Amino acid sequence: MKVHILLGPPGSGKGTQAKRLVQQFSLIHLSTGDILRDAVSKETEIGLRAKAIMASGKLVDDQTVNGLVFARLQNETQDVLFDGYPRTLQQAEALEDFLSAKGFVLGLVMNVEVPDGVLEARVVGRRVCSNNACGAIYHVETKPPKQDGVCDLCGSPLKHRSDDTAEAFRSRMDEFDSTFQPLLGFYRGRDTYRAVDGNRAPDMVFETLSRTFKEHA
Ligand code: AMP
Repeated sequence: MKVHILLGPPGSGKGTQAKRLVQQFSLIHLSTGDILRDAVSKETEIGLRAKAIMASGKLVDDQTVNGLVFARLQNETQDVLFDGYPRTLQQAEALEDFLSAKGFVLGLVMNVEVPDGVLEARVVGRRVCSNNACGAIYHVETKPPKQDGVCDLCGSPLKHRSDDTAEAFRSRMDEFDSTFQPLLGFYRGRDTYRAVDGNRAPDMVFETLSRTFKEHA
C-alpha cells in the first residue's frame, strides 16, 4: 500500500484537486479536515474538543490527529491520498515511523504552491456542500453553483465553513507559516517530491498533478 501527500496552504485548491485525483486514480481520499469536521458534527469526544480549535483556525494537537489517521490507515489495502495531513514536522515524522512499521510506502509528495496574496479571497468566497458524502466545493465568484446556495451535484444546501472567515483565515495562515517550512524541509530533498504551480485555472493544475501522478506514482 502506498500513501501520497498533497501539501499546500489553506485555499490552495488541495481539496478540489484531491477529489479529482482520487477519482481518476482510484485512491482513498483522506482529508483530516473532513475527518475532524465529521467528528465535530457527530459530537464525538474528539469532535467536542476540536470544535473551538478548528473554528479559531488553530491546529488540532498532533497526537489526536495522528491517532485518527493511523486508526484509519491500519487495515487499508488501497493506495491513499492525504489532503491536509501531515501539517507539522511531528506529524510527518510520526507518519514515517507508522509507514515503516506497517511496511507501507510513501509515494508522491506534491506541493501546490500559491502566492499568499490570492489565498484569502479564495477561502472567504468558498462554499461547500453540506452533505459530507458529496463535499463538492464552490466559490461565490469563480465557481458559483447553477442555483444560488444549492449543490449542483446532489441538491443539498451549500454552507460557509465557520473557519472560512477573514479572521479565522489569518489565524490559519499564521499556523501555516509557522509549521510549513520545517515540514517542507522534511520532504523537499526527496526524489518523490514535486512542487506544482497552483496559481492557475483548476483544470490546468489538475492536468499537471495527474501527469505527475501518471509518471511517478
Ligand atoms: P482543512 O479542511 O484541511 O482546511 O482543515 C480544517 C481545520 O482542521 C484546520 O484549520 C485545523 O484546525 C484542523 N486540521 C485539519 N488537518 C489537520 C492536521 N493535519 N493537523 C492539525 N489540525 C488539522
